[in-house]
Amino acid sequence: MSAVSKKNLIIITALLLGVLLFVTMGDEETKVQSKDKRTPALSLQLLQEGNERFVDGASLHPRTDTSRLEMAGTENQGDYAFATVLTCSDSRVPVERIFDAGIMDIFVIRVAGNVVQGDEAGSIEYGLAHVHTPLLVVLGHTQCGAVTAVTNAVEGHGHALERNIPGLVAPIFPAVEKTLRLSGLHGADAIPLAIEQNVWQSVHDLFMVSPSTRDLVKSGKVRVVGAIYDVATGKVKWLKEDKPLSILEEVEADPARIMPDTAAAPEGEHAATPPAHEEAPAAVEEHPADGDHAQGTEELHLEAVPAADEPAAQPEAAGQNIEELKALAAQAAEAAKAAAAAAESAAKALEEATHPAK
Ligand SMILES: [Zn+2]
Repeated sequence: MSAVSKKNLIIITALLLGVLLFVTMGDEETKVQSKDKRTPALSLQLLQEGNERFVDGASLHPRTDTSRLEMAGTENQGDYAFATVLTCSDSRVPVERIFDAGIMDIFVIRVAGNVVQGDEAGSIEYGLAHVHTPLLVVLGHTQCGAVTAVTNAVEGHGHALERNIPGLVAPIFPAVEKTLRLSGLHGADAIPLAIEQNVWQSVHDLFMVSPSTRDLVKSGKVRVVGAIYDVATGKVKWLKEDKPLSILEEVEADPARIMPDTAAAPEGEHAATPPAHEEAPAAVEEHPADGDHAQGTEELHLEAVPAADEPAAQPEAAGQNIEELKALAAQAAEAAKAAAAAAESAAKALEEATHPAK
């Protein structure tokens, strides 16, 4: 008799757990189904709760079933995605998994070292202004190879970098140099701080080149947060909340920032602002080559226009813009030159280290 009761008890407990799981998932679904409900605070909460589930081994894998796929094929991601995330390409940082998120949830930009140059800034603008995500997370991670490589290069014992890497990691140099200068730390001790500083560097670099992002943040429609993902525990550490706004304030006072420009350019001319890139500003590709963006009813206006419900950008004197761009391009070229020189000396050091018998 008591054995039967025990069995019943187990069955009842299992049923209750099942109901609880169903209710929790249902709640997860409703929270993100309505575009009108998307806010920076709710988006952040969804990511935080998703990461807690992931860390606890209790992921629900929400919004990944066939009905969600069906929605993805017929509806506009701009009505559903709730966050834009910039993070590193590192294989240990699978974005949707670490936030226990699903399809049409996160607009993701991944690049080694989570740097922001032209393509990344453009992708972020797309995620914020066109996919309408109210939250941008710049997510660094522990043991980042890109930040480590730059730290080694700055400290004079880097290794050879392939042809295209110096330009890619050039934006990390200021973060590492600042960290070494201010902390007095060196080598492995400095890297965790450099990783955090690099998150803020990316936020800074984004604000410098993206007037539309600055406007969205100033209007309160978009919030920017920094975070560090721990590859060993799966835990996301959320960084100081007010830091992005103080960076924005700094950038707003910086005359070198890119200003709103040629939204009102004559038809047929490229209106987009060439990004701060290590090469001289070339023609800006108007449409992305990959088909991802063309799905559903997504609109494809990639010109540098302000968010739809914002007032049109103030037309700036064209000459002033060109001067600003020239100055920026010159700065970027200098940075790239420095990075290339560092890479060359690193390559020499490696060559010497590899063939010490000579
Ligand atoms: Zn990394």
